[in-house]
Amino acid sequence: MTEIKTDTIAAISTAISAAGIGVVRISGPLAIETADRLFRAKSGRTLREAKGSTIHYGHIEEGGKILDEVLVSVLRAPATYTREDTVEINCHGGILVLRRVLDAVIRAGARLADPGEFTRRAFLNGRIDLSQAEAVMDLIASENRSAADNALSHLGGAMRRRIESARALLLEETARIEAALDDPENYDLTGYLPELEQKLRGTYETISGLLATAEEGRIIKEGIATVILGRPNVGKSTLLNLLAGEERAIVTDIAGTTRDILEEKIVLQGVSLRIMDTAGLRETGDTVEKIGVERAYEAASRADLILYMVDGSVPASEEDRKHLRLLQGREVILILNKTDLKQQISESEAESLLPGAHIQRLSAKDGRGMEELGKCIRERFLRGEICANDEVYITNERQKEALSEAAQALQRVLFSMEAGMPEDLYTVDLMDAYAALGRITGEEVGEELIDEIFSRFCMGK
Ligand code: GDP
Repeated sequence: MTEIKTDTIAAISTAISAAGIGVVRISGPLAIETADRLFRAKSGRTLREAKGSTIHYGHIEEGGKILDEVLVSVLRAPATYTREDTVEINCHGGILVLRRVLDAVIRAGARLADPGEFTRRAFLNGRIDLSQAEAVMDLIASENRSAADNALSHLGGAMRRRIESARALLLEETARIEAALDDPENYDLTGYLPELEQKLRGTYETISGLLATAEEGRIIKEGIATVILGRPNVGKSTLLNLLAGEERAIVTDIAGTTRDILEEKIVLQGVSLRIMDTAGLRETGDTVEKIGVERAYEAASRADLILYMVDGSVPASEEDRKHLRLLQGREVILILNKTDLKQQISESEAESLLPGAHIQRLSAKDGRGMEELGKCIRERFLRGEICANDEVYITNERQKEALSEAAQALQRVLFSMEAGMPEDLYTVDLMDAYAALGRITGEEVGEELIDEIFSRFCMGK
């Protein structure tokens, strides 16, 4: 690894709000020296004398004035997040205290870090690849446990390992073909082609396997786009309120559609649901009536999931049949609400309303059946619990595009082989696939893209 010379940077790494503890992080070749200019240890020793991975109690002082009583962690390269010497000053978590300590650190010689600059250094110093750096950001932004587990899996290198081994194979096979083309007397490709084909098919399958997780990945990260439909008074708003809980309801405006859609995000059984068009529900409680069958159908066409609700305590209506016919072929869960009342819709009648749909009986009033509804949704959209081990789902557009390009390049090689084309044609496509995969790990990306990715990070990360 080439040594990358860098200056020493500092930032507040915890949230800027009143809290028990706040951390000012310093990283770079002069991190320990910089902190020493301000730190007075209770023991009287300097941080320069300290071993790596140790904590020291004392004060931060500037010009004879105490700024805070602190605990300072000394972390020595390369066993640190950035692979550089790092000092973390654990201050009291007040906004003013943290600002004063940071300002003092800057005056002592550090530079204010850019957003994501610590992680960028971890990447540039080879501690993590780009897929892991992006996972850091995903982990911080996770809104449900599936997303957090998936980000941890990426962070643990599950993606990196797959990509690196595919790239190693592509490089080796390309080198072998090139060697044979350069020196046909000593290298013969004839017997090797079936073996090459088999290896490339294996790599192609790994890549398509990853690509196939993208839809599930999107759902894990962004949530399931859901609409609740049904005639007036069946209990849609009651269900929405129950799902959201008064405090957890997040209402967002999504621009760029024909009309702004109000959306509420809720987490159920570890998956996020983005419940769309909740404005109609909140205002009048009669989505289908208000927005009309056409609009309802349109809303449904943008959704991953439709919760169609009928009141189970009254006979099924012709109108429901009509609405449901329009939803044929979509992902629908038919909810029979008001199970706390005497039911008037039999199982077979419910099935006839939308053949093949999953039927869930519940009471939005007392919550019975809600757990089953959550489980049912989870099972329909996720293959199972995501463990933060080696399983990964693609949640990133950039990675998806790169994988797709690599898959296409490999397909071209396989076609050329089938068509009996000359071997020198294979290497061009093999190298295309190699380069595309390199964009995921960050080996084949320009400075500009790296700037763009890290600028999306928060301060101090
Ligand atoms: P919407 O028009 O579909 O949004 O229906 P609402 O949520 O406004 O509910 C209509 C009426 O049904 C209200 O009086 C609710 O209290 C009542 N309701 C909703 N869910 C249930 C339920 O599960 N059981 C009973 N008994 N009443 C319910």
